[in-house]
Amino acid sequence: MAENMEKTTAQLLKEQLFHKTKNTYDELEDAVIDAAYDYAEGYKKYLDAGKTERECVKTSIAMLEADGFVPYSFGMPVVAGGKYYYNNRGRSLSAFVIGTESIANGVYFTASHIDSPRIDLKAHPLYEADGLGFLKTHYYGGIKKYQWTALPLALHGTVMKADGTTVDIVVGEDETDPVFYIDDLLPHLAAQQMKKPAAEVIAGEQLNILSGSRPYEKNLPEGIKLNIMKTLYDKYGITESDFISAEISAVPAFKARDIGFDRSLIGSYGHDDRVCAYPSLTALMAVKNPVHTTMAVLADKEEVGSEGNAGMQSIVYFDIIADLAKTLGVSDIVVRANSKCLSSDVNAAFDPNFPEVNERKNSCFVNNGVVITKYTGAKGKSGTNDASAEFAGYVRNLLDAAGIIWQTSELGKVDQGGGGTVAKFIAKQNVDVIDLGVPVISMHAPYEVVSKTDVYMTHKAIEAFFKA
Ligand code: MN
Ligand code: MN
Repeated sequence: MAENMEKTTAQLLKEQLFHKTKNTYDELEDAVIDAAYDYAEGYKKYLDAGKTERECVKTSIAMLEADGFVPYSFGMPVVAGGKYYYNNRGRSLSAFVIGTESIANGVYFTASHIDSPRIDLKAHPLYEADGLGFLKTHYYGGIKKYQWTALPLALHGTVMKADGTTVDIVVGEDETDPVFYIDDLLPHLAAQQMKKPAAEVIAGEQLNILSGSRPYEKNLPEGIKLNIMKTLYDKYGITESDFISAEISAVPAFKARDIGFDRSLIGSYGHDDRVCAYPSLTALMAVKNPVHTTMAVLADKEEVGSEGNAGMQSIVYFDIIADLAKTLGVSDIVVRANSKCLSSDVNAAFDPNFPEVNERKNSCFVNNGVVITKYTGAKGKSGTNDASAEFAGYVRNLLDAAGIIWQTSELGKVDQGGGGTVAKFIAKQNVDVIDLGVPVISMHAPYEVVSKTDVYMTHKAIEAFFKA
């Protein structure tokens, strides 16, 4: 067929009237794709440096301070163009830039989360059984327990000792470190286990972490436990009672790596939701002297319902906005009413190996760009924010004007399951909010997968939002 053959009326009508799904590799210039691959290098470093919310806060603060952000405390004066961050107990972070126009016109902010599913130690973790030393655990967030066995694990955490000092623990990340392990049954003896439903293959109380086998001295009862405790005491100065005032988590000991011959994908622990937290930070820093006041919120505890004083349901996030409003002589009621938020969280990418859980026309696909999710929820949209047509339209037009490749999605087929994000807690504060983020393959697995071009489109989308 000749290339210059004229299009039929029907073809032209289709172009005019039908929605066209776009793919980043078809639409983007090579230079933009190259920029996406460069951007991924910084993102991988961020992932490796932050495997817990506390480490993400520290890593993010280092990035912000290098860019001129300074610590904020309630009541302090602020100036237009000023760059600040509020560190909430080392577990969550709000970074913001004061706009050149009145804050009465609203704060433009993103809300992502920096906690990820993992295996936490109990308050009394140490024990030995039949010649092996273990740590008792309580898993955190929605995991398939069987996925967390027979993998190298690293321990990350913070301990407050009896003397009131705190010590940070990281074991298993350096190549010379030992790692930890949750054992599983050999297939030869697993006939009964293999007949169980997947949810019961590994029980919660079987997620015990193998931590040693050598006793402190010969023929000593609890000698293995003592040897582990002595090692911890020598290195960190902690005793068994100190586990009571500790947050120690086992996470996969893997580093973020490119996936595939073409290196187009990134495999890592904890993409959900650092894959939105990192673009929120980079976009915040990229937009200098914004017109609106811009803010990136990195919240904790999303994976357990956004509870606690660092979860998105905490009043602290809106206390910061109220405090800024007060300092700048504006009602916080007015500020919230005019604020806009991108609830920046991941969605489940369509997986051709499991097509049955998605409805193809309303799914997000890897490499089709940043995904807008108007509503989440389960069953009859139960528990959803459900952004307004007007706000969905605002975001869609904003992204089109900025040349962003984007797509929309639900979270799975109707009645297949479902889930939620922090969006509904932000909407409660009289803020327009919609979910926007990155499609993820194998979400909540120890090693998740995202696309480099999708991550970069998320950075560019949030940048466009902050520039608006
Ligand atoms: Mn998430
Ligand atoms: Mn999640």
